[in-house]
Amino acid sequence: MTAQHKPPMHITGKTKSVPGHPGVAGPAETLRAAFEAGTPVTLDGAYKGERVYLGHTRQTYGDYGITLETIGLDRDLGETSKFPGVRIAVYLVDLKRLELAPQLEAKLRDVEAKRAQRAWEIEQGHPGSSEPASAGECDNCGAETESRWIRYDSSGIKGAVCVRCNKEDGQLLIFA
Ligand SMILES: [Zn+2]
Repeated sequence: MTAQHKPPMHITGKTKSVPGHPGVAGPAETLRAAFEAGTPVTLDGAYKGERVYLGHTRQTYGDYGITLETIGLDRDLGETSKFPGVRIAVYLVDLKRLELAPQLEAKLRDVEAKRAQRAWEIEQGHPGSSEPASAGECDNCGAETESRWIRYDSSGIKGAVCVRCNKEDGQLLIFA
């Protein structure tokens, strides 16, 4: 058994601020520093060794016209029992700068194609899972919901998802 001192940086689909936008979960301090400095972070897990920049820029419409706002922090998950003393956070991935993460970029492109395909299938009347699960938090998007459905994510992990996520293709679901 190898002792792990540092929480891994991994891609997650469980983002709250911009639904459907991938994030990086990892040590809050490291992520914040990288976001503020505009430097990439190195991923572990499925995209080990690939590097991504953080921050999603979106247009907001206000009193002074259109302004650009860049969101880094998606949410703070606090400390976990696995890595005591280390705060974990989720930061949004900068999808405009994926040049150091070719595999992730290819995956996201694939996901986008599947999403379009799935939307078409749903339109044609193919629903997601019809196996019900207990009420609780959606394993994909984190939303608190009354009715959940049993699904398997892109890694084969079993989970329960909300009505909205139940419409997604399994390749788009991330429960880790
Ligand atoms: Zn959901």
